[in-house]
Amino acid sequence: MAKARSRKASPAKAAPARPEVAIIGGGIAGLSAALRLSQRGFAVTVFEAKPELGGNMSSTNVHGIDHDVYPHMFCDWYANFWTIFEQDLGFARATHFEPQDGVKLLELGAETYLDLRNPSTLSTVWENLTSGILSVPEMIVLMFSMLDLAAHPFGGDVTDNLERIDVNGFLYSRGYVTEDVAKVHNYILTLVWSMNSDVTAAKTYQDFLRHFSSFPNQRPLAWLLRGSLRQKIMQPLADKLRDLGVTVHTDTMVTALDIIDGRPRLIVEARNGVAAPQAFDHAIIATPAGAMIRLAMGAPGEDPATKIVAVEPRIAQLQHFHDAAIPVVDIYFKKKLAGVPQGQIGLTGSSMMLSVIDISQLWETSSMMRERTALVLAASDGFAIPAVGPEARGFAMIEQLHRWLPIFNLGTHWGDPDSDIEWAMSHFRANDTNRLFIDDVSSWAFRPTASDPAALSNIFLAGDYCQSSADMATIEAAVQTGLLAAQALQAADARSHGKMRGEPITLAAEQLDGSAKLLAAKLALLPAAYGASAWAALSESLANPGGERPGTENYPLLLPLSCTLDWWTTAYSLALELAPGIKSASLADAGKATLLKAVDLLQDFARHQPGRGDPRPPPSELATTFSAFAGAAMRAAEAALTKAARGKPPAPDAPYKRRWRVKP
Ligand SMILES: Cc1cc2nc3c(=O)[nH]c(=O)nc-3n(C[C@H](O)[C@H](O)[C@H](O)COP(=O)(O)OP(=O)(O)OC[C@H]3O[C@@H](n4cnc5c(N)ncnc54)[C@H](O)[C@@H]3O)c2cc1C
Repeated sequence: MAKARSRKASPAKAAPARPEVAIIGGGIAGLSAALRLSQRGFAVTVFEAKPELGGNMSSTNVHGIDHDVYPHMFCDWYANFWTIFEQDLGFARATHFEPQDGVKLLELGAETYLDLRNPSTLSTVWENLTSGILSVPEMIVLMFSMLDLAAHPFGGDVTDNLERIDVNGFLYSRGYVTEDVAKVHNYILTLVWSMNSDVTAAKTYQDFLRHFSSFPNQRPLAWLLRGSLRQKIMQPLADKLRDLGVTVHTDTMVTALDIIDGRPRLIVEARNGVAAPQAFDHAIIATPAGAMIRLAMGAPGEDPATKIVAVEPRIAQLQHFHDAAIPVVDIYFKKKLAGVPQGQIGLTGSSMMLSVIDISQLWETSSMMRERTALVLAASDGFAIPAVGPEARGFAMIEQLHRWLPIFNLGTHWGDPDSDIEWAMSHFRANDTNRLFIDDVSSWAFRPTASDPAALSNIFLAGDYCQSSADMATIEAAVQTGLLAAQALQAADARSHGKMRGEPITLAAEQLDGSAKLLAAKLALLPAAYGASAWAALSESLANPGGERPGTENYPLLLPLSCTLDWWTTAYSLALELAPGIKSASLADAGKATLLKAVDLLQDFARHQPGRGDPRPPPSELATTFSAFAGAAMRAAEAALTKAARGKPPAPDAPYKRRWRVKP
């Protein structure tokens, strides 16, 4: 049997009429790739292991009711997703989605909901400051800390150890951040991505905040679907793919992928048994990372020499990745519950990190929804559910919801006929096989790009775990990686046949604030933020005399110093942004000249030279030692500065240095 081998770029060959492309995985990443490639004339076959398309964006139909993995939030900045929805599927966003200005928070025992709005205008900023989530000064600090992180000039390569900073590490390094502000960041990250702030990469959170920032242009925080994911997105997308000639096999698992004579060969297992192996010109693996690694490494008993890992051993490192299951329960009531607001509600302080969405207010076209409330309840910390088995876990979640929202008769167990819940329509899912990728602080170093594995010119990767500009595991990240894989495949096909098939595949342009704008805003607001931090500290000590702020004994003394230091480092970063020339050798030269001058002065001082004409006394032992030390320090500093002057530092916004090679 021919073995897997690396393929160098070969001289142009006659192009096959329609190159055959296999896409393994029918989630949104795989389907986005299928859409673009079929539009360019490739013959695309999609293999999806489950009965329905969509992966984490799929719906399961039970007794005629669609239950989504989760009713997703579609952020306004998902440029590539919206292009597919509006231009390829031809739908109007406002018809199928409900805009969301922000999220609501409900504290235990409270009767009113607190609003956290998208701070895109002055009025929404003001509403956030006075929202009551934290005191006004701490809200100033919270919002400033988001701006600070968004503006922070991380180095060009977050795979470097010193650049691997988690969100808490970043916050701890800021002199103005308070414990309560850090808790709100932790709450946001855990609720949305099931990741605490002590494992979330500061750079990843920064990417997310930068995409969100739209000040002063008003725009919604996100959009919620007015129906199920199957009905509104997956079915129309499947219809579109069918019209484009894409072959879709659902309920069909790819159990092995071998490279035979340089071509990908798939072994697929359909519901009706194992099918014959099929060879393709190209393959895109668009499964979650775990399934991709299994295909790339093979199983015991399979020929290891035909596996991807034989030519790309780095793939094995992807086993570092983590993911999380977010259990969800759809609760259908027998009646309408009064007073549940529209949109996403976070139950602050709940041990399971519960959030709830009333879908009966969104799916208004469904007659079934008009007469009842239907809540989707998600537990972002599934480990906190103190029960086993689907019904017991579902009921434990509903019990905790009931403590925050005691507006219905709970009953005593799942299925209790005396409860207000319509159990036959309600549905719990553990989501064990629909897991959220956790892009924790060290994962970026291992995350591949769409054109990996680099050693194989006809295998590509897609999925939210791959590197993308969206970064955080989201619909947009998955779509971007699908398009990037399609783009890389189209380019590889053009390289081997000397002709590009169809228009080049492109990604939608992103409108992100530049670093200079963010740094300038930070510089302007910095004194107010430090002032607000002092205000918060003062209010707390007045309200709680003698109380301790852990770890901040010298806080009032240090605050002006850290404010000054922060101001100067921000001003310096802004200067680097505005005049990139000073980044280069001239800066190091200036530093070197200053240092040499300082060392000269020190040496003169050490030699204790008296005025001109005075007899020169012999240098003391101390002066000789100091002089030697200063000379050595000078030489070391000079060497370091000369080295720095040689290598230009990377631009703060430059793409991360690739660990993976470019495809041949
Ligand atoms: C509970 C939850 C809530 C979320 N909420 C949001 C949100 O509000 N907003 C947001 O933007 N994002 C959200 N996300 C993230 C978003 O859903 C994902 O980032 C995105 O859907 C991932 O798409 P994908 O195509 O990369 O992977 P997937 O959706 O995982 O698709 C991969 C597909 O590959 C298939 N597959 C696996 N192995 C094989 C095989 N051997 N052969 C054939 N097929 C195979 C799987 O069955 C699956 O269908 C959420 C995710 C979860 C789990």
